Amino acid sequence: MIEKALEVLQRYFGYTQFRDGQQKVIMSLLQGSDTVAIMPTGAGKSLAYQIPALLFEGTTLVISPLISLMKDQVDALQQYGVPATFINSSLSLKEVRVRIERAARGDYKLLYVAPERLESDNFRSLLESLQVSFLAIDEAHCVSQWGHDFRPSYLHLGPFLKSLSQKPLIGAFTATATEEVQSDIVRLLGLREPGIFVTGFDRPNLTFSTLRGENKKDFVFDYTRAHADQSGIIYAGTRKEVDNLQGFLTKNGLKAGKYHAGMSDEDRQKSQEDFLFDEITVMVATNAFGMGIDKSNVRYVIHYNMPRNMEAYYQEAGRAGRDGEPGECLLLFSPQDVVLQRYLIEQTIFQPERKMNELKKIQGMVEYCHTPRCLRKTILEYFGEEDVQEECGNCSSCNDEREIVDITLEAQKIFSCIYRMRERFGIGLVAEVLKGSRKAKIRELCFDQLSTHGIMQEISLQEIKDLINRLVAEGYLQLSNGEYPVVKLLPNAILVLKGEAKVTQKVSAKPSREESDEVSLFDRLRVLRREIAIRENLPPYMIFADSTLREMAQVCPLNHRAMLRISGVGERKLEKYGDEFLASIWSFSKDGKRLGETNSDTFADVVTLQPKSKQGLGQLDDQTDSGFTVEKIANLADATMEKIPSHHQTLLMYLEGHSLEDIAKLRKVTPITVQNHLVRCGADGQAIPWDDFIPTEQESHILEAIRQVGRERLRPIKDLLADEVEWFTIRAVLEKHKVVGEE
Ligand code: ADP
Ligand code: MG
Repeated sequence: MIEKALEVLQRYFGYTQFRDGQQKVIMSLLQGSDTVAIMPTGAGKSLAYQIPALLFEGTTLVISPLISLMKDQVDALQQYGVPATFINSSLSLKEVRVRIERAARGDYKLLYVAPERLESDNFRSLLESLQVSFLAIDEAHCVSQWGHDFRPSYLHLGPFLKSLSQKPLIGAFTATATEEVQSDIVRLLGLREPGIFVTGFDRPNLTFSTLRGENKKDFVFDYTRAHADQSGIIYAGTRKEVDNLQGFLTKNGLKAGKYHAGMSDEDRQKSQEDFLFDEITVMVATNAFGMGIDKSNVRYVIHYNMPRNMEAYYQEAGRAGRDGEPGECLLLFSPQDVVLQRYLIEQTIFQPERKMNELKKIQGMVEYCHTPRCLRKTILEYFGEEDVQEECGNCSSCNDEREIVDITLEAQKIFSCIYRMRERFGIGLVAEVLKGSRKAKIRELCFDQLSTHGIMQEISLQEIKDLINRLVAEGYLQLSNGEYPVVKLLPNAILVLKGEAKVTQKVSAKPSREESDEVSLFDRLRVLRREIAIRENLPPYMIFADSTLREMAQVCPLNHRAMLRISGVGERKLEKYGDEFLASIWSFSKDGKRLGETNSDTFADVVTLQPKSKQGLGQLDDQTDSGFTVEKIANLADATMEKIPSHHQTLLMYLEGHSLEDIAKLRKVTPITVQNHLVRCGADGQAIPWDDFIPTEQESHILEAIRQVGRERLRPIKDLLADEVEWFTIRAVLEKHKVVGEE
């Protein structure tokens, strides 16, 4: 049985083996047992029901909670050549009817529907005529009020299943592992002696870090800039925070979008699509953004505020690195987060017992943010895993090699100031007194008379606040609850004041940019993927995942057979996109940069295996197999190039390593045209390495000039600057610092 499943995995999805847990779940379903699969986000739950669906007779019904999620999954399946569709409220009645008719004819292997749909009589009568052998319930925790995504419509599932004359096989899939949720799923869905499979919750490709007392805004700015070419999500606690942060990043030239429940449906949809299509690289969002984001190439998830419990944190952070490539999960802690989360829970109408439970969970998060123990171990043990190794070597606790400095003196200054202010004020005012502010409030309270007034004037106000926050985080100070938290001294601080204990701090290292030697072919394949994505109107990751492109860049497959061995390339995708990617790889290796060293196929292989291409490269259709030569294959690459718009060809050539002058010569155009091409590519949303064209020492002068005379015309800017500043440098600076959406 498992051979058949493996064959389907390879043929349709292009993967060679099952991941941890998938096989057991699939076997259980194929043996006809109701099955509950609890697997962490990104573990591959979809395949665990899609493969049985492909092997069963008839149609599989998939219950899925979100419209966007359904569309995403169905698009992805169609990409793999699997007949699938969805029925939900985004369709017109006519369209619904058409799809129902086709479903009744057996045209689809998978039919995605929202749970509300099951209440419609129309739909029920369709089900009578359909041979539904298997019903998969995605995000099954939505049925439980203990879960963090409870959806009342999921409660209709139980009665619906009871009402069926013949009960289909049921599979329930979720990432939430708590016992309450698990038993709710079994009970409310009426599962019969289900097989319950809990996959190890570890996600080895994710790096976990917690940062305390950091200036969050600066940190996020530095981090997102250093990772400007990667997709990432920043979760913030409130809508207002999302608005502020997104505005700040955008103003500073980053391609950031936002998502929260206060935005209109259209705005949210647009934002989500921009993210899926890589139009924006950073998504700043509240926790409203997420379920159903199956984008596989999210490289980092930053929590700007501490979330309310570990379940929510792990699910959100787990959206990084679904493709199995490295992903980074950073949590920026500040004590105010705790106050906010506490407050939100106080406001709820939960029963006292439930409130206590929630408060306990917050405390669990606070401990996660402070523990010097391995973070992965802390997480896995929270989810009930046993025998977890002491150190994972891939989290901020295990990798903490920062320099330790003594900050006892600074701490004493702060503690004594708080003491003299009688422990009645918040962090802001304490910091201002230390800084030496003479604002009215401080004079009225006579704090300008304190001996601690102005004793830290040599460092910035923000740095003083950061330091106080750190001392709160380290357990020297305490913040009171309530709207205006007051800082108080804890016993540890008294010891320090008496000179009986020292305070140390680790100095954090700045985030660094990654380097890699196959970056250039990878980048080029990414550009090609983007071209195709635009043409097909699909998110780039649905063409191929990052991991697939990276493997292509490493292995450099030169023919179909080698291409099929790349993880993520199945038959259908090979047929649709194989030639274009082969051509790109081929022309890359032809340049002598990297001649598929790891590839043992001979040119003869290339010749005989080169397909008669079905789409796109029509001009080559009448070539016979035997007529292919190395030269012609090189032409094939050029033919592919020809279909790419001229300005994008320029960018590709630049990314391949040609200088702008070279490109002008090779393409027989003027240097100005080449420059214009890059600007146009930028306008198309391509990431252009503008910094390549901006001498560092000129950037600030140019920005200053732009501030003075505006950005509408170049001439006045140029006039303000030294003669050696080139026109194109000014344009590059303008483009680099462009506000997204300014067009
Ligand atoms: P989730 O469990 O969160 O629903 P998904 O089903 O969205 O996860 O899968 C996450 C990613 O893992 C997808 O990009 C999918 O293609 C990939 N994936 C799933 N199974 C495998 C496998 N056996 N080998 C390689 N990649 C896989
Ligand atoms: Mg899923």
